[in-house]
Amino acid sequence: MTSRNAAILAALLAAAAPAGAAKPDRSLDAALRAHVATLASDEYGGREPGTEGETLTLRYLAREWFGIGLVSGTNDPGNPWFAPVMLVERVPSRSFAAFHRNRRALALPAEGVLVLTSAPRQLVENAPLLFLGRVAGAVPERAELAGRIAVVLDRSAPGSETPDPTSRADRLIEAGAAAVLTVLDGERSLDEIAARRARAGYALAGDDLGGDLEAFVTPAYAAKLFGPDWAALVKSADAGLPHPRSLPLTATLEATTRETRIATHNLIGKLPGRDPPAGAVLLLAHWDHFGKCAEPPAEDLICNGAIDNASGLAVLTEAARILAKGKKLDRDVYFLATTGEELGLLGAYAFVENPPLPLESIVAAFNIDSPAIGPAGLPATIVGHGLTPLDDDIAKAAKTLKLRIVASPAAESFLRRQDGWALLQHDVPAVMVGSNYSDAARVERFMEQTYHRPTDEYAPTLDLSGAAEDVRLQVALVRWFAGTRTFSPRRLPSKN
Ligand SMILES: [Zn+2]
Repeated sequence: MTSRNAAILAALLAAAAPAGAAKPDRSLDAALRAHVATLASDEYGGREPGTEGETLTLRYLAREWFGIGLVSGTNDPGNPWFAPVMLVERVPSRSFAAFHRNRRALALPAEGVLVLTSAPRQLVENAPLLFLGRVAGAVPERAELAGRIAVVLDRSAPGSETPDPTSRADRLIEAGAAAVLTVLDGERSLDEIAARRARAGYALAGDDLGGDLEAFVTPAYAAKLFGPDWAALVKSADAGLPHPRSLPLTATLEATTRETRIATHNLIGKLPGRDPPAGAVLLLAHWDHFGKCAEPPAEDLICNGAIDNASGLAVLTEAARILAKGKKLDRDVYFLATTGEELGLLGAYAFVENPPLPLESIVAAFNIDSPAIGPAGLPATIVGHGLTPLDDDIAKAAKTLKLRIVASPAAESFLRRQDGWALLQHDVPAVMVGSNYSDAARVERFMEQTYHRPTDEYAPTLDLSGAAEDVRLQVALVRWFAGTRTFSPRRLPSKN
């Protein structure tokens, strides 16, 4: 949102209906339907951060929340309602590699090698190469790796587990390697790696991106680079290299990325309680989606994100309306619509890195993501089950609605792919409770046909009965956890 848009919005907010003013008494289904139809309309362009779609989305939500009677929850008079979040988008730019053998520059072809980093620029000059062979488990000690470029073969040793190549490189760099050079003797090709990394990477501006620097070479390039030693090196790796071997080679590697900054916002509202020192409950749902996500000749180019996550915003907003109309709760309730979830939970990370309230005072956080996957009548699951002290009380709150909580391995597979995960990293007890993940076959169908595709769009046939049930569930959860008599937080054992 630009400051001009912010000014227009302020005027709109001032003109909006005050809290409690008579609203047409729509049924819950109709209210949810109106939110999803608007937020997932083509006019909103797929709600991409930093676009006109963001302005429209946040203006719509803020007007709704203001009309419901929420107040700004940013606790920042300079930025009411909209907490600024600065993102950076990076795409690989320069890739450079030069090698020396016994101080003599090697003449090598320009193709067959690719150097990558996720930082703005990373450079290693004249670093010695250390051959590690096929690294599966343990990595060498820091003293051995420090300042050197670790050379590994991509294919794992026969019979040994194939390590995740990303974590292998991360572990080597963490253990002190200046860079990792991978010889692609396995299934991955240089083109595949280039294509995968050509997609943009996103981060919060100011985040420490680490010093990752990775070079990839084809087997043909490796044969030229290592010369007469190459066959013997592969043989020793196949035999299970007893210890790392220093090579008479040094390398200069450099990679850069091109950076674009994206100014975006989290929307934060608050329903003040009677007893703010008793803490707060947080209800959150991400507002962002992918924007334009297909190219012509496809007819539908927009990922509208009706289920993911216009339906979550609809549930959040209608839960807020019911809570605001009811009797005043003990604890404050914060309502957060996050940006950048689809780019890596970045809005949620921005919230915990710059929170509007002390994070320790959040007694419970409930994320709402894609509630319209399932219809009414399914049992509920807890994404994050067993990771917070909330489970018993969640079951009690659900019982007030005669709703069952069931265990679900399918739900657990979403744990790290939802905003609650970012909060858990900062010790905020955060879960996602809903019925949307309890029917594994239905979730699988959604993932295969609709998830992150232009087909996730609104139609009057969209079943919102599950989302309506979810509204009642979120209201029951918030009332339970915002009541000082129903819930007193158990402090987690101190880590010190
Ligand atoms: Zn998504």
